[in-house]
Parts: sequence; structure tokens; C-alpha cells
Amino acid sequence: MNERAQAVPRISCVMPAFNEAATLPRVVPQVLAALAQLSPHVELIVVNDGSRDATAAVAAELCAAHPQLVLIDLSRNFGKEAALSAGLDSARGDIVFLMDADGQHPTALLAEMLAGWRQGYDVVYTVRRTRSDQSALQRRLTGVFYGLLNWHARVKVPRNAGDFRLLDARVVQALRLMPERHRFMKGLYAWVGFRSLALDYEPLPRLAGETRFGLVGAFSLGTTGLFAFSATPLRLMGMTGVLLSLAALLYGLWVVFEYAFLGISVPGYATIVAGMMLLAGVQLMAIGLLSEYVARIYDEVKQRPLYLVAGRAGQGLAGDGAAP
Ligand code: UDP
Ligand code: MG
Repeated sequence: MNERAQAVPRISCVMPAFNEAATLPRVVPQVLAALAQLSPHVELIVVNDGSRDATAAVAAELCAAHPQLVLIDLSRNFGKEAALSAGLDSARGDIVFLMDADGQHPTALLAEMLAGWRQGYDVVYTVRRTRSDQSALQRRLTGVFYGLLNWHARVKVPRNAGDFRLLDARVVQALRLMPERHRFMKGLYAWVGFRSLALDYEPLPRLAGETRFGLVGAFSLGTTGLFAFSATPLRLMGMTGVLLSLAALLYGLWVVFEYAFLGISVPGYATIVAGMMLLAGVQLMAIGLLSEYVARIYDEVKQRPLYLVAGRAGQGLAGDGAAP
């Protein structure tokens, strides 16, 4: 670990970009300048995640101007998690930074993250100090999500930790071994383990454009995370069944008691209908939940690739004299 203290690591920075034509011309030079302060051997890997705007053309132009820039063009929009995986698969550095392409992740933090790595941490992740940019409902749902995800879980996913992080090459290697299609990167980082350090930061406002993770996007990522990393929904369903059966048993005993000792014969029609509808509802919900897991199993067994690369440009560390 001590050899890291003096080391000048080769650095890769992975940047997924979806419709970021407006921000890339500002973010790329800024990030490259910040990386150059840390090491002479750097590459910035921009993954164009099937953008519908001029991102590809803008990135290609930047590539011509900056030899450290690598452009990976995915064949369509695969989503941020897949774009991150594409970047990680191509990264050659001793350490890899993950950064958004919209300028929300402050480059000022990179040096501090590197300092963490020099102290021997393999993962330095960042935790946003506030979520003030999100609605109260979204914050509440996020809280419920992490509560469910981490409930009795061996691997806890830290709350509010984002994708902005530093990964040692060993961690990147471990992540490449994860074959799953339904990717929830925050869960995968936690799953692989390694010594981790958390840093607080204040996200900057987006330079241009709008977030793609509104309530719906966040909800869909949340369910992916929940179904991929936890069997808690299934357990809760099982427990609901147990509780309902207990309630039915007690109620049945009560009816017998009323009939035998109080002389009341219970008029049943309304209770039967209500009970049947409740149980039918609960059963359908349980089947729906089960189907979610089955659908995901179906997706996994198909073994389709995580992403497809339509084109590449730039050399990055491969063109660097220090590359192995
Ligand atoms: N992104 C992507 N593919 C997508 C959606 C987003 O590669 O399908 C990228 C986007 O270009 C940005 C990062 O993921 O670099 C974060 O996206 P965004 O700023 O919309 O999310 P937020 O910062 O609000 O979490
Ligand atoms: Mg953003």
C-alpha cells in the first residue's frame, strides 16, 4: 500500500454522455486540465450512449483536438449503467474516475479522491450533501428504497452515494466479472467490496440540458436495484401470507365461539365477498411480484451483450508511451 504514496498512476476517466452536445465542449477540456494536474498519463473515455443530438460529432471533433480523449460510440441508447460498463471495459488506467458529462461533478474533488487512493483506499466514492434539487416525494421514495434494499442485507449500499467515484484497477477488474444485464452499479460497487472511503460534496448545477432521471427514471432504476440486490419483496410477500392466514384463523375461531357460546349465527354474505376480494388482490399482487423476478431471470438467461459498440475514436492511454 505504501508504494501508492509516491506513485504516479495512469488515470482513466469514464464519462457517459447522452445528449450532451451542449456541455461536452466545456466539460471535456476542464476535466482534461484537472486530470493533467494529477498525472502525465491520462485518458478520458467519453461513451456516447446513443445520443439523438450532435454529441457524436462534437465528441469526434474534441477527439481530434485532444489525443488523451477516447470516444466509444454505442449502437443505441443502452442507459447510463451500461454506458459506464462500456467505459470501464475499455479503461486501462491504474485508477479510474467515473464522472458525469454535464459538469455536475466538481473537478476540484479529483485531487482529494486521488489522495484517498494514495492512503490505500481502493474505492473513493462521493456522497451528495443535499438532495435539494429533488422533490420531497422523490426524497421520501429514495429513503424507502434504501430502507428496503438494506433491510437485513449482508451487503449494505450506502445512501446518497453516487456514481462520481474513484476505482482502483482491481475494483474495475472485479466489476468486469459481473455478467448481469439488469445493472445497478451502486449495488455492484458495494457487492465487490474493497476498502472504501466516502467524501462529501455539493453537486454543481447542470451546465445545460435537463436531467434524465426524473421520478419515473429514478423509480425504474430503483426497482432494478431492489430486484437485483434483494429478496426482501419476496420475503415481505411471504410474511403477508402468514399474517393473513393467522388473521383468518383467529377470525374463524371467533365465529365458532360466537355460534357456540353466544348463540349468534353470523350473517356471512358481506364478509365472504370482502374477504374473497382482499385475498384475490393479495394473490394477484404476489404473482405480479413473482413475475418481476421471473422476467428478470428471463432477461439474464438470454445472455445478450450489455451494450454494442458502433465505433471508436482516439487512442487514450493506448497511445501513451507509459502504457504496458
Ligand atoms: N446518461 C447516459 N445515458 C442515459 C442517461 C444519462 O449516459 O440514458 C448520462 C448523462 O449524459 C450524464 C449522466 O449519465 O453524463 C447523468 O445523467 P443526468 O445528469 O441526466 O442525471 P443526474 O445527474 O440528474 O443523476
Ligand atoms: Mg446530472
